Amino acid sequence: MKYIFITGGVASSLGKGLVAASIGTLLEQRGLNVFIQKFDPYLNVDPGTMNPYQHGEVYVLNDGTETDLDLGHYERFTHCKLSKTNNLTSGKVFESVLTRERRGEYLGSTVQFIPHVTDEIKNRLKIASETSNTDVIITEIGGTVGDIEAHLFLEAIRQFSLEIDKTDICFIHVTLLPYIKAAGETKTKPTQQSVAKLREIGIQPDIIICRSEVKIGKEHRDKIAMFCNIHKNSVIPFYDTKYSIYECPLNLHKDKIDNLIVEKLNIKSSEPNLAEWEKFIENLKNPQEKRKIAVVGKYIELQDTYKSIYEALTHASGKNRCKVEVLKIDSEAINPENVEKILKDAQGILIPGGFGNRGIEGKILSAKYAREKQIPYFGICLGLQIAIIEFSRNICGLQEANSTEFNEKTNDPVICLQENQKDIEEKGGTMRLGAYKAILEPKTLASQLYQEKNISERHRHRYECNPDYLSKFNKNGLVVSATCEKNGLVELIEIPSHPFYIACQFHPEFQSKPSSPHPLFTGFIKAVLDSH
Ligand code: GLN
Repeated sequence: MKYIFITGGVASSLGKGLVAASIGTLLEQRGLNVFIQKFDPYLNVDPGTMNPYQHGEVYVLNDGTETDLDLGHYERFTHCKLSKTNNLTSGKVFESVLTRERRGEYLGSTVQFIPHVTDEIKNRLKIASETSNTDVIITEIGGTVGDIEAHLFLEAIRQFSLEIDKTDICFIHVTLLPYIKAAGETKTKPTQQSVAKLREIGIQPDIIICRSEVKIGKEHRDKIAMFCNIHKNSVIPFYDTKYSIYECPLNLHKDKIDNLIVEKLNIKSSEPNLAEWEKFIENLKNPQEKRKIAVVGKYIELQDTYKSIYEALTHASGKNRCKVEVLKIDSEAINPENVEKILKDAQGILIPGGFGNRGIEGKILSAKYAREKQIPYFGICLGLQIAIIEFSRNICGLQEANSTEFNEKTNDPVICLQENQKDIEEKGGTMRLGAYKAILEPKTLASQLYQEKNISERHRHRYECNPDYLSKFNKNGLVVSATCEKNGLVELIEIPSHPFYIACQFHPEFQSKPSSPHPLFTGFIKAVLDSH
């Protein structure tokens, strides 16, 4: 087994996750099997309870694990099948150490950070190497070198490096080279200091990846190589991409990162086959059409909250050769007077998932606008619930219809909790989570898009469409086009009299990849193209 560890220096948000995912792509395309995991130093057991302002999107795996959004990149960039073993937080590490301590499993020893906590982390590496049938384990360490909370993870991988052969391990450090505009200079000092910090811990990077907004000159690479004690060919630039993040593997390959890695790890493999990636980028670069799609949400100013949705739109736009401009609309700003003005340029309207009351009425007005103006509508999770509330109020005559999430006492709870959710008090990991199979209704738009009878899609929600209202919806022209195989719950709805009005209770965005764009997203973009 070969191991790659990716650490970060100078600042967060440099794209370590993209580096890990891109290395995964390159190694896979060289014929290797990879396992990618993320170690997150924060104390939450998982990010499921974190606010989007703090953490961005919560990415859900098939097994229902709520994880960091970088795991979304791992799945989109590789064929790696991820599960709860691919994301370890300090919260999980301590939870497990403390459980063992209470059970008396440490046989009376004083339980300490070293060795007990670091052993727990190393154990996860051992489990991954024993259970994953792969050639290379790529581990991204969240946070930044120098953070107190990241220290135990770094110490654990330092210890781990002593237990295996030098040719089986490769350390990659991702840093920032800031450009000081007033001086017209790129600075290498923060990188030197961050590597010094890493070496102080006992880790010498083999490759340094330098994120920079401007071109990095030979003099900078030479300087970093000398001060950081590595070969100058091992200093790799990492620039912002022009069209999409899917250029990252191609750009890193140009600078021979995969060659460096296989040389260091003494792996024999051929050059990667990147034809499919190049083709996808070519399609994005040369669109035949352009369309504007409004995404109406309440965390709209944040880049990362709807990450997988934006990615899924990119995949579908590559497939349809249609450049999609996303109009990010804040649902709280929408009211009956301005809805038309705000949405007038939207050629398609997408309402993503969300929690809580804030901004709900603006979303309901947007769904109404899409339905009445025959604009393609795509609702995801909360976007389905909104569509149902709107339809109930304005078509079925249930003026007070609501979700009990927003009004517990509503007379018409068209969206409500299932019995098994009613007594749950703990917030962490208690929603309907992960993959559920659904059966598609033949001759519906959904079955036409999927071209399947059964599907499996990932969930993350607590509330459901209330089955008591289904016949009323049906009579008024809203069709349920898929139900859950296990419990009969509503999974997909559509309005056949509308050119494209579809909404799902699950999150299709989590399964879309550049190599296989999700059929609902592809269908949505195609409908937007056809309707203008
Ligand atoms: N708040 C809604 C629920 O819990 C929708 C959740 C979501 O959109 N992910 O059911």
